[in-house]
Amino acid sequence: MGRQEYTLAGGLHGGEHGMIKMAQLELRLDNSDMGGLSTILHPEIRSPVWFIHDTVEGGVGFAHSIYENFEAVAQRTMERIEDCDCGRPVGCPACLMSSQCGNQNEPLHRQAAVSLLQAALEQVEK
Ligand SMILES: [Zn+2]
Ligand SMILES: [Zn+2]
Repeated sequence: MGRQEYTLAGGLHGGEHGMIKMAQLELRLDNSDMGGLSTILHPEIRSPVWFIHDTVEGGVGFAHSIYENFEAVAQRTMERIEDCDCGRPVGCPACLMSSQCGNQNEPLHRQAAVSLLQAALEQVEK
């Protein structure tokens, strides 16, 4: 994986983790109720994307409530990641890392995650 790819993938992956973490606080959800997936190029959408989904079979509406509260959750997520005291480029368990991650928390990129959330919010605000 090249450096640019790593940064993009790390930003997406970090944004995915960050949103799930924040959703637990905002919407009082349990960590194990949601899973995520991120990819730098989705074959159908043809763009970088991350998904957040319910882990309960058939879904119980958690991911849907994130979708409905996207602006609030994304805004808070961005601030939390940006303001985290860890100062580490790859983040820490408080901001980006997740014990539920199926990929050993790799790759993660804190600044890219902030930039991607910012860009997503700008799209929403238009
Ligand atoms: Zn941190
Ligand atoms: Zn992960």
